[in-house]
Amino acid sequence: MRKKLVVGNWKMHGSRSANAALLSALREAGPWSADVAVCVPFPYLAETALALTGLAVALGAQDVSSHSNGAYTGEVSAAMLADLGCRYVIVGHSERRTHHRESDQLVADKAKAALAHGVTPVVCVGETLAEHQAGESEAVVKRQLAAVVHTLAHCIGEIVVAYEPVWAIGTGLTATPAQAQAIHAVLRLQLKAATQKAGLMRILYGGSVKPDNAVELFAQADIDGGLIGGAALKAADFAAICRAAH
Ligand code: PEP
Repeated sequence: MRKKLVVGNWKMHGSRSANAALLSALREAGPWSADVAVCVPFPYLAETALALTGLAVALGAQDVSSHSNGAYTGEVSAAMLADLGCRYVIVGHSERRTHHRESDQLVADKAKAALAHGVTPVVCVGETLAEHQAGESEAVVKRQLAAVVHTLAHCIGEIVVAYEPVWAIGTGLTATPAQAQAIHAVLRLQLKAATQKAGLMRILYGGSVKPDNAVELFAQADIDGGLIGGAALKAADFAAICRAAH
């Protein structure tokens, strides 16, 4: 039995006062039976770690360097994330693949760097609208995951996968539960070929998850929770999504 996981991705939103208000509302709203995490912008990691004291909400970051240390101006290493108490880090979000031209191999290298420091990578895969319309969804996500499987080898069982169709992120469009389940089943099968732990691995769905569609999405056999963007910034919505994951 897989315990569900809900991860909030704050993206480049927030301020010290807005974060404090959001976290204090989450403190009131919890606890939940699912595992819950918030992935916050780098500057707010230390303060958020303090604010989460005594709360069953894990800390995460939104990106990590593939390098372990050195002359890489502007980058943040996995060791630094671990030092700040991060349990998770998102890698390969479509916004980074698109705006920063991150390749499948770079995403895999980032996942490897995270694991080397005990930080669980939440590896995002997902097809664009054009790829979706061309019937290439399965081929794209399999190619993206294959790079990670190949790079992590026997450690692949330690990651979390997030299927995020790019056409559903921040658009208000959501994959139907059946569409999402079909891709999750494909990903599970691919993981099964790589590790005996595949049945225990969590595959999250992301893309316009809201309180009113979360229950049905999370009821699918291979959907083990969600990666939540916009709704993670509204305490009541995020709390309701966490409640839906049981
Ligand atoms: C995301 O940014 O990972 C995401 C899923 O965003 P949203 O929930 O806003 O679609």
